[in-house]
Amino acid sequence: MPIRPITSARAAAVDASGIRKVFDLAAKLKDPINLSIGLPDFDVPDPAKQVAVEAIRRGDNRYTQTQGIAPLRERLRRDLSAEFGRDVGEVLITSGVSGGLMLALMATIDPGDEAIFLDPYFVMYRHLLTLVGGSAKIIDSYPDFRFPAEKVESAVTPRTKLLILNSPANPTGAVMSQADVRAAVEIARRHGLLILSDEIYEPFLYDRHGNAGAVAAGGRGGAASVYSPAELYEHTLVLRGFSKSHAMTGWRLGYAAGPAEVIAQMTKLQQYTFVCAPSPFQHAALAALDVSMTDAVAAYRKKRDIAYSILSERFRVEKPGGAFYIFPQVPDGTTATEFCARAIEKNVLVIPGNVFSSRDTHLRISYATTDEKLQRGCQILCELTG
Ligand code: PMP
Repeated sequence: MPIRPITSARAAAVDASGIRKVFDLAAKLKDPINLSIGLPDFDVPDPAKQVAVEAIRRGDNRYTQTQGIAPLRERLRRDLSAEFGRDVGEVLITSGVSGGLMLALMATIDPGDEAIFLDPYFVMYRHLLTLVGGSAKIIDSYPDFRFPAEKVESAVTPRTKLLILNSPANPTGAVMSQADVRAAVEIARRHGLLILSDEIYEPFLYDRHGNAGAVAAGGRGGAASVYSPAELYEHTLVLRGFSKSHAMTGWRLGYAAGPAEVIAQMTKLQQYTFVCAPSPFQHAALAALDVSMTDAVAAYRKKRDIAYSILSERFRVEKPGGAFYIFPQVPDGTTATEFCARAIEKNVLVIPGNVFSSRDTHLRISYATTDEKLQRGCQILCELTG
């Protein structure tokens, strides 16, 4: 008997080769200037580490309730409700925002259902949709990465279920303006769509322009926070997490808040997949909520300014309003893949835009590194423009 195929067509349909190639290259370089990584260059705040150690020692090492420990859920429910101006209902603690995304798509998408999101996009959206049998409607947002409301609206079909928003965005650093958020909500309302709002970079906002209107209108009293569609539209599933905000990428903690029926389905599915988020780190996350990250955000604003001021001398580039990425366009006559290969020869690691996009014209640069490495790396990239 010949061996039957042992891997699934579902798995084969997911192509993750782009980003893997970059990481394979990175592994070969000695002490590169690494501008490719999507994680903070600071460490978990000490008070959170302390609580994690205490929780482990105390024996909080077992399963928690599927939905997460009550004090963390209650705290997040209170905070989000105050921010959005209404009770957000139950909060589900997830294994990272990645876990939340997987559960959200499994809970909402049937085979053939469509989800709309912008190009460039966070890669996971496309691959997870493939896994659940959904169909991605990817809308071009070049050259300025603003929300292209008309194009989005004309992509809606009777099969569209989700509008996925990601502000501040990976890989562009773009932040939706209040007008953009309103336009997105209007489209969702008109067509009865669920908005999935990936707000993992929510603390990393550098300018007020993105939510100036909200502040002027007495919104949230000047706090530089993202203007979430959840403030305007109850049919929004908000996903946030601790990976970026508190540098806990390896601790796998995120959370979801949204319509009760969606959260209930996600909770049921979590029971049979992730079971729960890591127990000791849920306690640590609660402590982390009381640690001010203002200094970290200020340090990143400075890095954003360094990267933009150097790169804008030689590249066409939008000034990012948040996250820790900048997305300059490579010179005409070359592809981003070719440009990245030349950068790697100079020991600088950046990711070609085609990993996140149908276009191969831009570079994703993460400025989450030391100011010195960032400066040097950006200068080398400028020299490569010839
Ligand atoms: N959403 C976006 C936009 C991201 O950039 C990332 C991480 N790179 C995630 C979700 C997932 O993060 P995590 O699973 O670590 O919470």
